[in-house]
Amino acid sequence: MIEARQITVEWDDRRVLDRVDFDVHAGTFTIVVGPNGAGKSTLLDVLRGYRVPHHGDVRFEGTPIASLSPKERAARVGWLAQHPRVRDVMTVAEWLTTARFRFAETPRVARPKVEQALRWVDRLHLLDRLAHTLSGGEAQRVALAALMTQEARLWLLDEPTHHLDPAAVLAILERLRDRLREGQTMVAVVHDLDEITAVLEPSDHERVWVVGLKEGTVRFRRPMGAPDALADALSDLYDVQMRAVTVEGRPRFVVMP
Ligand code: ADP
Ligand code: MG
Repeated sequence: MIEARQITVEWDDRRVLDRVDFDVHAGTFTIVVGPNGAGKSTLLDVLRGYRVPHHGDVRFEGTPIASLSPKERAARVGWLAQHPRVRDVMTVAEWLTTARFRFAETPRVARPKVEQALRWVDRLHLLDRLAHTLSGGEAQRVALAALMTQEARLWLLDEPTHHLDPAAVLAILERLRDRLREGQTMVAVVHDLDEITAVLEPSDHERVWVVGLKEGTVRFRRPMGAPDALADALSDLYDVQMRAVTVEGRPRFVVMP
């Protein structure tokens, strides 16, 4: 679906992405891990066409992402920010309606889709709330609902559960897992693989890939289905000893002191 080739991004003569190749296949969930400053958010910015790389290119099913109009891009790529912020004074309903701008429909026509997406995240009662008054956890769920209403083929999620309480983390990740099972293609930056493996069944693993990014280069791309090898790769990536343990039939990754 996405083919990124030799992506290089520099800040002040410092390479934050260095000849990165990154492919995403339809129906898969790619989890990007790596230390702070590895270039993960920058990579998502390049994939969604927001940041133009100094070298290399990104294609969506063969078409350069840079050549797409805003509406064409919105049909293909949706993005969930690390800290969703709505600066304009708008209600949740208006936020979700805006996410459907490419459909050029009236708010009345959009309304059932907007309500359906809010129901999906169990937050229909927030419909008329001002977006900037939401708590972090509420904003994250509403942002996920907005992503749903956009109906993009590929979702890019930047630390979707960062700073959320355990119940909100579980709520978000269970919905992502359900979307994966429905065929949604996703790329997520996460720090805690544990949270994801907790909600996945082993039968989901064949669609899940883990990509390790460090100092602007891809260090590995591994299937979720081989937890011991993955734990070794994570140990190298983070410079800590990690071990895979099995809890109720599911692999979890723990840091060994
Ligand atoms: P990650 O998401 O993996 O933590 P980022 O992609 O946000 O990392 O950042 C990668 C590197 O690029 C970091 O060293 C960061 O300081 C640098 N960087 C990001 N944005 C800017 C910017 N606007 N100006 C200068 N350096 C930046
Ligand atoms: Mg980041």
